[in-house]
Amino acid sequence: MSWTARQCSNEKMSPLKKTATKMTKLQTKTWICDSSHEAITRVEDGWVEWLRGAESGLHLRLAHTRSSAPHGPCHRLASPLAGMSRRDLPLSLFLGPDGLMLLLEMMDDQEVPQQELIEMIKRLHIPGYEAARKHFEAAMEEGVPESLRTPGFHSQWEIREVLEWREEVER
Ligand SMILES: [Zn+2]
Repeated sequence: MSWTARQCSNEKMSPLKKTATKMTKLQTKTWICDSSHEAITRVEDGWVEWLRGAESGLHLRLAHTRSSAPHGPCHRLASPLAGMSRRDLPLSLFLGPDGLMLLLEMMDDQEVPQQELIEMIKRLHIPGYEAARKHFEAAMEEGVPESLRTPGFHSQWEIREVLEWREEVER
């Protein structure tokens, strides 16, 4: 069965199907800082930092800017190892079509490990992913959502199911 056919048949079976018509489009308006794990609520309060030349590890991060950090500095890439150089740019430059192109350019230039860039692209460009990403594992243990795609590459429908599941759990 093709992916599309499976998606359609699964959507038909979904209990969420009934509410689908009143669903609004997912959006990402806040981000979670990789240092403080607190919300970055304004675009101008975030920046992206990375170590150029790093081969593995978490070398691409989204964090509060110096002036918006809630509990002291959130940037952590201040002491790069030999052969690496530290870069940072405002979060705003990574959003929208030009931001996506910048991230793709970084991938083409092999600025940082590809897996980290893929994750950052999802966080900044897939609506709802940033809010749902820490909950996928727990939600999937509960059978939410029904797995339709490669783990880690979720459809908007799956992301929405995870966010709704999370809301239920927190109630
Ligand atoms: Zn922070």
